[in-house]
Amino acid sequence: MSDESTVSLETGQVAKVNLLGLSGSRLGDLFEELGEKRFRGTQILKWIHQMGTCDLDEMSNLSKPLRTRLATIGEVRLPEVVSCQDSVDGTRKWLIRLEGGSCIEMVYIPERDRGTLCVSSQIGCALDCAFCATGKQGFNRDLTTAEIIGQVWIAANSFGQFVPGATRRVTNVVMMGMGEPLMNFDHVVDAMNLMLDDNAYGLSKRRVTLSTAGVVPALDKLGDVSDVSLAISLHAPNDALRNQLVPINRKYPLREFIDSARRYLDKMPDNRRKVTVEYTLMDRVNDRSEHARELAELLRELPCKINLIPFNPFPGADFKRVTNTALNRFRDILHDEGYTVTVRTTRGDDIAAACGQLAGEVNDKTRRQARYKRRLEKQQVIKMIEA
Ligand code: SAH
Repeated sequence: MSDESTVSLETGQVAKVNLLGLSGSRLGDLFEELGEKRFRGTQILKWIHQMGTCDLDEMSNLSKPLRTRLATIGEVRLPEVVSCQDSVDGTRKWLIRLEGGSCIEMVYIPERDRGTLCVSSQIGCALDCAFCATGKQGFNRDLTTAEIIGQVWIAANSFGQFVPGATRRVTNVVMMGMGEPLMNFDHVVDAMNLMLDDNAYGLSKRRVTLSTAGVVPALDKLGDVSDVSLAISLHAPNDALRNQLVPINRKYPLREFIDSARRYLDKMPDNRRKVTVEYTLMDRVNDRSEHARELAELLRELPCKINLIPFNPFPGADFKRVTNTALNRFRDILHDEGYTVTVRTTRGDDIAAACGQLAGEVNDKTRRQARYKRRLEKQQVIKMIEA
C-alpha cells in the first residue's frame, strides 16, 4: 500500500494518486510536473484539510482546465465510515473500513476545554502485548498516510469543523489507537506533519502525541525528524515482568527504552518538556507497593509525568482491573516520591471505546486471531458447563 499511484497487476490500470495523504510540498511537486506553479499545492491542501472539500470541481481557485488535468492523475479517496456510536459520556467511536476490507476503530474523547482524537496507525498490531485487545486480532498491514490523516478528516467533518462555528473540534490527537506507530514510521511522521501544518490542521506540537511500546531505533530516528509530544508505554518497573507483558521488551529492555526517551527530550529545543509514562494497572500483576517504588527509582533521571491507566477488560482477557485501594496506594507512593501522577478516567466503556478495547475487524495474516478465537470458544464452553 502506498499513497502514490500504483499499477494494478490484474487490470493494468493505473490507480490515481490519493491527494489526501500528500504534503503541501509533494502537492507542489505534482503541480510542477503539470507545468504549474508550486503554490497551487498549498491551495489544494487548504481545500482538503481546512475546507473539507474532496471534489476537485469545487476547488474554485484552480482553473477548469487545470482541475480536469489534475483529475486524470489524482483524486481524494477517503476511508469508508461503517458505523459511528456515541457513548453516554459524549465519547464517539467510529468503525472505519479500509482498502482490502479490514476495519479499524477510532475514538473521540471530549473534555471541558479540549477534544482528543485517538488515531490508529496499523490494522491490528504485531507487538502482542498481553493485556491489549488489538494484539489479539493479529496483524494485517500498515496504514497509508492518507488513511491516518483521513481519520482526522472524518472526525473534523463529523463535527462540522470545516464550517465556522463548530462547537466540538479536534484539538488534540494521540497516536494511541490500534497499532504501534513507530513500526509504520514514514506514514505516521507524514500524517503527523499534516496535523501540525498551518495550511492543514495547524495543531501545536504539544497537542499531537505519539505513544510507543519501545521500538528504540525508530524512537531515536523520530527525534531527528519530529518534535511532537511523546508517551511511553511502560506497564512494568523491571525487565522480568515487562518481558511477559510487553514482548518487545526482550529486544529493547527498559533501560534502553528510557535512555532513548531521554535522548528524544534532549533533542527538543524547549527544555521544559516532559515524557508521559503510561502504566496500565492490573490486579495483582503490576500494582504492588514494591512496583511503585521500583518505578519511582527507574524514572529518576527522566523528566516525566506518570499516567496510571486502570486495566479495561475485554472478552477473554487474562487480567482484572486494579482495585481502587491498590490504585490509590500506587498513586500516593509515586506522588510522595515527587512525581506528577494522573489517573486516566475510563471513557466510553459502554461502547467498548476505552483504552485497549479497540479491536476493529482485522483480516489477520498471522493466525494469532484464530488462536484467540479458539481460546475464547473454549472459555465459553467451560462457562456453559459450569453454569
Ligand atoms: N503501541 C502503542 C500505541 C497504542 S496505545 C503503545 O503501546 O503505546 C495503547 C495504550 O493503551 C497503551 O499505552 C496502554 O496503556 C493502553 N492499553 C492497552 N490495552 C489496555 C487495556 N486493556 N486497558 C487499559 N489500557 C490499555
